[in-house]
Amino acid sequence: MVGDRDVLVIHDTRMLAHQPNAEEPFIPGKLDSRVQAMLSGLFEGAVKKWSYPEHPGRLSAITDLLMLEPVPGVGFGVARAATHEELGRVHTTSYLENIFALRGKQAWLDVDTTAVSPGSVDAAELAAGAAINAVEAVVQGRTGSAFALCRPPGHHAESVRARGFCLFNNVAVAAAHARAELGCERVLIVDWDVHHGNGTQEIFLASPDVLFFDTHRAAPFYPGSGNKEEIGQGLGEGTTINVPLPAGCGDPALIKAFREILVPAAEWFKPDLILVSAGFDLHRLDMCMNLSFDGFAAMTGIVQELADRLCNGRLVMVLEGGYNLEALARGVHTVLEVMAGGDYPEIVEPGVKEVAEIAAYHKDAFS
Ligand SMILES: [Zn+2]
Repeated sequence: MVGDRDVLVIHDTRMLAHQPNAEEPFIPGKLDSRVQAMLSGLFEGAVKKWSYPEHPGRLSAITDLLMLEPVPGVGFGVARAATHEELGRVHTTSYLENIFALRGKQAWLDVDTTAVSPGSVDAAELAAGAAINAVEAVVQGRTGSAFALCRPPGHHAESVRARGFCLFNNVAVAAAHARAELGCERVLIVDWDVHHGNGTQEIFLASPDVLFFDTHRAAPFYPGSGNKEEIGQGLGEGTTINVPLPAGCGDPALIKAFREILVPAAEWFKPDLILVSAGFDLHRLDMCMNLSFDGFAAMTGIVQELADRLCNGRLVMVLEGGYNLEALARGVHTVLEVMAGGDYPEIVEPGVKEVAEIAAYHKDAFS
């Protein structure tokens, strides 16, 4: 039951200092005019003015709900800044130098709406450090499992490029750290965010020691990669698994992908550690998929069972996307309940349970 297992949540309010604001003037000037032109298109016909979706209120919504409805077994820890050496395991020196040069400044980094504010580089170092702290606590046995509440998110960041709200690839930094410092040989990364984790795939494309499994809405949905034929390259051929899905998929499709593709792949790979790029933008209140909270509970249950069976329970969640605050906060809460030992419900098509109840309610009227 909930509370049977220890879960460490890494949370640090210093990550709230990442506050990109679409209305501020940005550097470099040349990019500024292009990006402003692009954003002006988003304003046209919009009922609500466009604002940067990856905002500090996301983390506050999660922690507010956890304060209001504490999950038994969950404890809290703070982040530390990832070192240059730790970031340098997955990003190039020149890329890191470019990002560090933006400390204290406002800037647009690309047309995928990745922006920085004066506190963003510090926040990004803490986000990567939070993922490292979570992995260290789990591998060193100080907690059963852990959830790093990272901002900015990470899975779109490539070795040489910031993309899609991401500066440093937090989950990749954590996986590389586990291999370099913590004695883990093989790391499984599960990415259930609605967007393809292009950055994580790129970083480990040729690595046979990191198995990357990603369910996402199929291209041309952002970022446009993640076809099933992308299976890794060179020594890493066979250790990238993509499951592109049509819009509107719900719990049954995701759970089928996990049971029929992820589970046998993980059993073959035999990981020492399982990391999850946990996005909540596939919830039905958010974008284009139809996940319910039961769906998040079941996905968590499946990866927790894999971790229990294959790697001594070592499971670390790393926060990625999720822009509807209700879905994000309740989604994280639901995942934590399962990690803390809670059961997860049997999955049926959303609505089927409700119809069964209503059928029972009306049954006598027609007999
Ligand atoms: Zn996403």
